[in-house]
Amino acid sequence: MSVFQSIDFSEHEQVVHVADAASGLRAIIAIHSTALGSAIGGCRILPYADEASALRDVLRLSQGMTLKAAVAGVPFGGAKMVVMADAKRGKNPALLHAIGTAIERLGGRYITGEDVGTTVDDMAEIKTATDYVMGLPEHLGGSGDPSPSTALGCFVGIRAAVRHRLGADSLEGIGVAVQGLGNVGWNLCRLLSYAGAKLIVTDVRTELMEKAARSFKAERVPSPNDIYCADAEVFAPCALGAIINETTLSDLKVVIVAGAANNQLADEVRHGRLLCERGILYAPDYVINAGGMIQLALERHKGFDRAEVDGRVHAIGDTLSGIFERADRAGIPTSLAARELAQARLDAARKQAA
Ligand code: NAD
Repeated sequence: MSVFQSIDFSEHEQVVHVADAASGLRAIIAIHSTALGSAIGGCRILPYADEASALRDVLRLSQGMTLKAAVAGVPFGGAKMVVMADAKRGKNPALLHAIGTAIERLGGRYITGEDVGTTVDDMAEIKTATDYVMGLPEHLGGSGDPSPSTALGCFVGIRAAVRHRLGADSLEGIGVAVQGLGNVGWNLCRLLSYAGAKLIVTDVRTELMEKAARSFKAERVPSPNDIYCADAEVFAPCALGAIINETTLSDLKVVIVAGAANNQLADEVRHGRLLCERGILYAPDYVINAGGMIQLALERHKGFDRAEVDGRVHAIGDTLSGIFERADRAGIPTSLAARELAQARLDAARKQAA
């Protein structure tokens, strides 16, 4: 398997394969860029089908972290770690300690945090082997679970998108189809419901759908894939990546796509353009879902301060409005406008360092 020839390789600075026989750890750490500072990104534990799928995921996600940090204006680069294991059965203190040891060996070029399959408590365990870890529990001086900040960023992002596309200042009566009722999706539903939005929800876990129907008077779709043709103004993907593709694009009735999932566009260039041509306003994923990363980055950079984090997360709305306007002016997809903004910040940092 060739890293350099992978379609997801994008001049990554360093890609490290890690194995530890004693704990059974098999992992890949991809450092995409340290142009703006140490590279940050979560540690994902998933039972990948094979090494190629794990490599693909880590290359794509780490690049997304670089863009996310650059647009959010935090002094960090982008990276990611993927561990090939089942988080439910394979996670134990020895594995987490081995993860920490692998991170420690990189000497601070990579700082980890929560992701799919890892929790705040796991970060405390990883800390037994390295200090290069964020998202620690509050009793260890950390900021705790970043998901509510991610949800808040999505909420203000949806508000900015609704204002731009529909000219409405309120979410009262606006239909939002939410895919995934996990850590982010649930917190987002709470905020949307409080703001008067009409929720249509789905999750593969039916008990969460039932709970959402009770808690938020949300409508449930008959089967998970029916969420793509939901009769709503906004589609908020909060579960999986690559959900905007040839198949789902023709189903969408919404005029806005704005949610937390990473890598929503199966092909960033092609599907970003197709959304634009269909008049669907897309809030680029790495801009709207940066709230959790902002919380962790500030925890690491200067110590956790809730008010400062909330202020910076609220600014995601203004950042997105700027991207929407820039895209309109230039007649380009919002996905391209966001990438240009990130690239300009990275180029400026590289020029300054040279
Ligand atoms: P989570 O695992 O807590 O929740 C995901 C939910 O999606 C689960 O309830 C799961 O049952 C559901 N789901 C899975 N497949 C589905 C399908 N086919 N249809 C409907 N629902 C399905 O994850 P999370 O932390 O809430 O994150 C959600 C997404 O946002 C992920 O893509 C994640 O990478 C991204 N994200 C999360 C954060 C964060 O702070 N947690 C930050 C940035 C991006």
